[in-house]
Amino acid sequence: MIPKFDYLRPKTTEELVGLMAEYGEDAKLLAGGTDLLVLMRDKLIRPRYVIDLKGIGELRGLSWDEKRGLRIGATATLNELLESEVVKERFSVLWSAVGVLADPTLRNRATLVGNICNASPAADTAPALLVLDAEVEVAGKDGERIIPIRDFFTGVKRTSLKPGEFVRAVRIPNPPEGAKGGYYKWGRTRGEDLAVVGVAALVANSGRRIMRVALSSVFKTPLRVFEVEKIFEGEGPLGEQIERAVSVVREKIAPITDVRGGKEYRLHMAGALTRRALEELLGGS
Ligand SMILES: Cc1cc2nc3c(=O)[nH]c(=O)nc-3n(C[C@H](O)[C@H](O)[C@H](O)COP(=O)(O)OP(=O)(O)OC[C@H]3O[C@@H](n4cnc5c(N)ncnc54)[C@H](O)[C@@H]3O)c2cc1C
Repeated sequence: MIPKFDYLRPKTTEELVGLMAEYGEDAKLLAGGTDLLVLMRDKLIRPRYVIDLKGIGELRGLSWDEKRGLRIGATATLNELLESEVVKERFSVLWSAVGVLADPTLRNRATLVGNICNASPAADTAPALLVLDAEVEVAGKDGERIIPIRDFFTGVKRTSLKPGEFVRAVRIPNPPEGAKGGYYKWGRTRGEDLAVVGVAALVANSGRRIMRVALSSVFKTPLRVFEVEKIFEGEGPLGEQIERAVSVVREKIAPITDVRGGKEYRLHMAGALTRRALEELLGGS
């Protein structure tokens, strides 16, 4: 049984800001509820008020334009992303990450914004957003601000959101011309499970070679390994560059042992998945 709470459903962001200011720590925001309600059922949190965001029209849906790129509203579901031709064609690394997050039923409720606000190190969409240089649109009683996704995650289940702030949307600039990307998820089973290790990679060759890698489940936050990027700016055989990148990734991550996998196993799989991602994406470029 979920402990009793009051359910609130504002219709505007102004109303939402007012409710958050009034109830503070006693209130929790609900998007799809697939993380929140599990924590409430297990009595790990007991909010007195649950504020449902789905009644707020301006938080819904996706939009894209040639100049500004993609904007994903706070209540846009993962299935909306998966069904979008724009996301599939232009933001393939994100599309592939969404496609391996849980299952179609869950993705019908769950949102991308809920996935990043939950701030699990295993969040599947986070590595893709990191390699795409996404930005988080935040609003609250003190106004609005933009947080680069690389500064958004501050620890296990912690973000740089301040009390009274909520995420309005995630913005993603258009990737470089000719970019290709993919998310490589290693789980305990082929079915629904959190990642033992996840690797997102984005490569492009528009004048200079661009190569970005970010990982899930191997650090206290989702992690972009910026040090890898310089390796591919230099000359040298591709095979050697890939092996150096694999070594750098293994140096920078700090996996733990938990129910889903051991530290050594994660270290090994992070290297193996990084190699696979780079060979597949660079091999064909
Ligand atoms: C069976 C099952 C399988 C799962 N499999 C996976 C998986 O494979 N990969 C994976 O990454 N995750 C997985 N999850 C976790 C979860 O489904 C995802 O993290 C999902 O994207 C959360 O989105 P939501 O809209 O349901 O978030 P919610 O549960 O509504 O919210 C999550 C958290 O974010 C806060 N929040 C929501 N919206 C905002 C906002 N706009 N501003 C500020 N805070 C906000 C909420 O208060 C809450 O703390 C799984 C969960 C279940 C139950």
